[in-house]
Amino acid sequence: MALRFYNTLTQQVEDFRPADDNTVRMYSCGPTVYDYAHIGNFRTFTFIDILRKWLRASGFRLNHVMNVTDVDDKIIRNAAAQGKKLEEYTETFTKAFLEDCARLRLERPEHLVPATKHINDMAEAIERLSASHHTYTSDGSVYFRISSFPGYGKLSHNDFSGNLAGARVDVDEYEKADARDFALWKAPKEGETYWDTTIGPGRPGWHIECSVMAIKYLGETLDIHVGGVDLIFPHHENEIAQSESLTGKPFSRFWLHSEFLMVEGQKMSKSLGNYYTLRDVVGRGYQPEAIRYLLASVPYRKSLNFTFDGLKSAATAIDRLRNFKLRLETDRYAEGANEQLAARAAAASEAFTQSLNDDLNTAEALGAVFEYVRDANSAMDSGEFRAGNAAGALEFLGRFDAVFDVLKPATEGGSPDAEIESLIAERTAAKKAKNFARADQIREQLLGQGVVLEDTKSGVRWKRK
Ligand code: AMP
Ligand code: ZN
Repeated sequence: MALRFYNTLTQQVEDFRPADDNTVRMYSCGPTVYDYAHIGNFRTFTFIDILRKWLRASGFRLNHVMNVTDVDDKIIRNAAAQGKKLEEYTETFTKAFLEDCARLRLERPEHLVPATKHINDMAEAIERLSASHHTYTSDGSVYFRISSFPGYGKLSHNDFSGNLAGARVDVDEYEKADARDFALWKAPKEGETYWDTTIGPGRPGWHIECSVMAIKYLGETLDIHVGGVDLIFPHHENEIAQSESLTGKPFSRFWLHSEFLMVEGQKMSKSLGNYYTLRDVVGRGYQPEAIRYLLASVPYRKSLNFTFDGLKSAATAIDRLRNFKLRLETDRYAEGANEQLAARAAAASEAFTQSLNDDLNTAEALGAVFEYVRDANSAMDSGEFRAGNAAGALEFLGRFDAVFDVLKPATEGGSPDAEIESLIAERTAAKKAKNFARADQIREQLLGQGVVLEDTKSGVRWKRK
């Protein structure tokens, strides 16, 4: 079976290959760096990493762009509340995000692009949209007129006909099924950061950054655009309206959307307060690999309920695989090969491929791995496993780990000092924000890891007990 994905745009499962040559041009909507990302956000980013690794294993090269939203309503509000400059504020959380990604073994996209480094490109795109009558201006802000784009609604499959005129919205996120003209450019407000550009002073809306940076780095038609399901409407619908009005070409051939990480039946989210950051979970003693495994273990189009029991099972599953690998590498087996078992490894490896080709069915792929490991373990116990079977088994584990990436223990690749430093940075930020409860919690957490903090005039020092 060829590689195929469910495409939100066509509502069909379709065979996938890149349009030109062998390179997949892919865009994913990145983090808004106003706070630490929670593990719900990381479900989406882990899915994107699994997608990257499977595309590579399928023989394709990658050209992947991810934006960093480093200017928006929440960032401006939070930076002002802490008396910080925008860059100073966003730098902390961008750094924290990248550290978290490293701990979860999420590869860096080929281009990681901050919105604020592309303001002039956005102003220029807005100018072009205005020249082709897709916009109107009111009090210095520029709005996209959605009635000027007949395809509006094609991604979210909402029928907006008869409902496209008039109302407009200034905030970046709004209610489902409520089509509104959205802000491309926001006039400066008293005391807010703004940029002077050819279209006047102000700052970009959220949607325009993705269209502009995607086209700049990847061309007018992408192979794949990805994000969480909450971005389908309005964000991705608006990206299509802007991009296709600019180029006259389809913006992306495939649209893939991942479902939510849930907590007791509700989406994990900042606004509901039912969230854990990666640091929270690691602070409770869980390995980042177990979190990665848990997030990857349910196929991306199914919602996944987060529990600590689930996390414990993930850690147990990784232990089983690591033990199996150790056994393969260290036990001695009788000469020769068990043909039946060799065929079993080949069949399991093929089932693994077919499952991931089938719209990244990770649960089935893991099933193929564990069934084989169970059989191989019992063959080892009964003496039927032979020296000649080890290479095939290791190769299969290697194929598994090229995608799931959980077998190497964290201490080999991780940087514990960097983790400590970042927790200290979080504690300093918490203290500044007068969140003393969080600051104390971090001190306790580090103490639990044998790290003692000392507040000095020149900053925080730390040492191991
Ligand atoms: P944000 O930083 O809020 O822009 O979100 C970053 C990414 O996380 C987006 O692709 C969202 O769709 C995704 N996301 C947010 N909450 C969840 C959740 N509970 N489960 C899975 N993905 C999520
Ligand atoms: Zn986006």
